[in-house]
Amino acid sequence: MKCPYCSALDTKVINSRPSEDGVAIRRRRECLQCGRRLTTYERAQLEPLMVIKRSGRKEAFSPDKLLKGLQLATEKRPITLEVLRTFAYGFEDEVGLLEITSSEIGRRAMAFLKPLDEVAYIRFASVYQEFDSLERFIEEIRGLKDKEGG
Ligand SMILES: [Zn+2]
Repeated sequence: MKCPYCSALDTKVINSRPSEDGVAIRRRRECLQCGRRLTTYERAQLEPLMVIKRSGRKEAFSPDKLLKGLQLATEKRPITLEVLRTFAYGFEDEVGLLEITSSEIGRRAMAFLKPLDEVAYIRFASVYQEFDSLERFIEEIRGLKDKEGG
């Protein structure tokens, strides 16, 4: 760790302990050249879940996007937002992977909807399977709703 005061390359750790919230390690360091002290925090950086699209492109998983797709499929159906939110926001932890294909996300969302509500399941399944992304699915569902007259 380079000293921010004098740019010396050697600083030594004089004390190390967890931060108050326990999510970081707080280290007090002392510069071996100028003797000044500094504090650094070391945190675990979570790796975002990456979605592999059919095109091969990758993008970070978005729970909001998944939630949006589920909301559209369950509109006017007896499923609470809380249930959908729990699924969408717990998805990344549930999956426990670093990468997932978009079709696997769709498959898991369908498996989630099926026991909850058949109509929502069929809406999601019939539309999602044709598309390579949640964005295109959302557009399509919107289009269907327009045809139904809202
Ligand atoms: Zn220094």
